Amino acid sequence: MSGSADGTVPRLRRVVGRALVRSCARRPAVLPDDFPPTVSFTFDDFPASAVDAAGPILRDAGMAATWYAASGLLGQPSAVGEIASPDQVARLHADGHEIGDHTCRHLDARAVAAEDYGRDIDENRRVLADLLPGHAVRSFSYPFGGVTLGAKRAAMARAATCRSTMAGIARGSVDLALLPANPLYEDAAWLAAAQDVIGRLAARRGWAIFYTHDVTPTPSPWGCSPASFAALVAAIGRAGLRVATVGAVVDEIAPASA
Ligand SMILES: [Zn+2]
Repeated sequence: MSGSADGTVPRLRRVVGRALVRSCARRPAVLPDDFPPTVSFTFDDFPASAVDAAGPILRDAGMAATWYAASGLLGQPSAVGEIASPDQVARLHADGHEIGDHTCRHLDARAVAAEDYGRDIDENRRVLADLLPGHAVRSFSYPFGGVTLGAKRAAMARAATCRSTMAGIARGSVDLALLPANPLYEDAAWLAAAQDVIGRLAARRGWAIFYTHDVTPTPSPWGCSPASFAALVAAIGRAGLRVATVGAVVDEIAPASA
């Protein structure tokens, strides 16, 4: 029986693929030693519920977030609830939040050619430029966390940062084309992990990025409740950590010499 029949070959391919995207096409940068412990909240293809529920919690805490928009989904029903409307995106931007890029059609990099992926990013940029005159989109996140080497190259050619769904805290040398990020999902283990990230950040500095989708009392498997979101915001406040958008943080990081 061949290796592929029992899943060994696909598993091997995944492991090798992950190692490749981690080690190649990097955009290295260094977090300075005195970099203060920092949190960024991010939302992917965010539904209206995230804007309505997390927006006021962030505003009351004086925090801004990065919202990665897939413009082809705006106003559409989805597995995480109805996606935010163009008006909501414009209001977030006017309120001082950062609007980032999440491809136009919410493409999985593993399912399309890199050229198509790049073209779809360009299309998203065109729609967002019409919606937000004067706003230069600089931050990108990979839909479904899907990354290939070709997609990474296509995305990093168009964005200052590309956020993954690979968990971790950025410290020291970082790859701006594959920033780590931690899920904020309504699940006891994930929520405990998120609180643990706050503790580790307070103790050892670094930059922790969180991501979620819907924020509603009965969240999807890819979202969280307003109570859990508020609890994390409160924990960050108690720990004295600062919160900044991904774009604001990257402005402080000097690109490493190659
Ligand atoms: Zn997404």
